[in-house]
Amino acid sequence: MEKKSIHQFLQQQRSNDLYRSRSIVESPQGVNLELNGKSYLNFCSNDYLGLANHPKITEAFVKGIKQYGVGSGASHLINGHSRAHHQLEEELAEFVQRPRALLFSTGYMANLGVISALLAKGDAVFEDRLNHASLLDGGLLSQARLQRYQHCDAGDLAVKLSRSKAKTKLICTDGVFSMDGDIAPLAELVTQSTQSNSWLMVDDAHGLGTVGATGRGCLELINATVDDVPILMGTLGKALGTFGAFVAGDADLIEFLIQRARSYIYTTAMPAAVAEATRMSIKLVDEESWRREQLKKNISYFKQGLPQIEINGVTGDNNDTDSNPENYLTPIQPILIGDVQQTVRVSEILKQAGILVSAIRPPTVPENTARLRITLCADHSKQQIEQLLDTLSR
Ligand SMILES: *Cc1c(COP(=O)(O)O)cnc(C)c1O
Repeated sequence: MEKKSIHQFLQQQRSNDLYRSRSIVESPQGVNLELNGKSYLNFCSNDYLGLANHPKITEAFVKGIKQYGVGSGASHLINGHSRAHHQLEEELAEFVQRPRALLFSTGYMANLGVISALLAKGDAVFEDRLNHASLLDGGLLSQARLQRYQHCDAGDLAVKLSRSKAKTKLICTDGVFSMDGDIAPLAELVTQSTQSNSWLMVDDAHGLGTVGATGRGCLELINATVDDVPILMGTLGKALGTFGAFVAGDADLIEFLIQRARSYIYTTAMPAAVAEATRMSIKLVDEESWRREQLKKNISYFKQGLPQIEINGVTGDNNDTDSNPENYLTPIQPILIGDVQQTVRVSEILKQAGILVSAIRPPTVPENTARLRITLCADHSKQQIEQLLDTLSR
């Protein structure tokens, strides 16, 4: 883009209420957040289990720094791969019951790395049309033929698969969809991938730690083995409260990624202390399972109040379109409003009332589906959820 077009673009974004700007955070993540010197009740964090500022995890982080220093100094393949990284990989593999796991510096990079390593020109990638941007970008980067199927529609996927003559095919889906909060039809996707001899990759950034009886994520709901879902991606910066990501699968897949995933090879390893902190996080997911129980209670409590909310003639529970309500019991609870201006306005009114809820606009979501994206955490109290519901209904 030319210099003068950039200026025009910015003005246009402003006048369309699409301009994005950042708030300055001055406290740790938590249900109460300091922004620009003011305290807010926070309903837009991905720190679903309240681990981002957990004393045991911060302690493990500090201990990790004392042992390894701050920077990892190099990529994993040179000499940045510490004992802490290696142990975390083993513990993550065990946690998700897969033979191996491989750490990536971010989830975005994990998705780019896996997809572009597996696929090339002439191959095909099939993506849910509401997949996270990083899965779509990975597909584009790979130069495979990218086809988007209707959201959570295994039937539409089946039609597209049956028409494909590509030798290598990959189906990619979010586990819990990041802007919609619903869960992919995983059992059907497993069937489709098996029948068409395709790879299946599940990005469980939001399900890990929050979904399933023991917090193993969406795959726990259907007890999917590594044969059912050969590629599982999880992130560490959401429910696990730290930073980074991993891919889990069989030994050959992981060794292949070490050889070929460019976003793994050509980047500095995450600090070893982050790995130490994360080792404590996954321990706490089990030891403090009450966090997940409380989160589930909070989600149900919030959902009970949704039908009473009406914004612009639309009720709050407008996202449950599925016959199975279980598919919507996730920490991400959007309220679809549609219009960008209205969505931004509601978000601003909430902010004036001391409540943070993010307004999600295109291009993050499709045109005419602007929404409030409300996220619930284990640490929210009943009274705080009521405060949100009351303010919304006004
Ligand atoms: C957040 C997110 C990512 C990216 O993970 P980062 O570690 O933040 O880069 C990927 N996929 C989904 C579905 C996400 O929500």
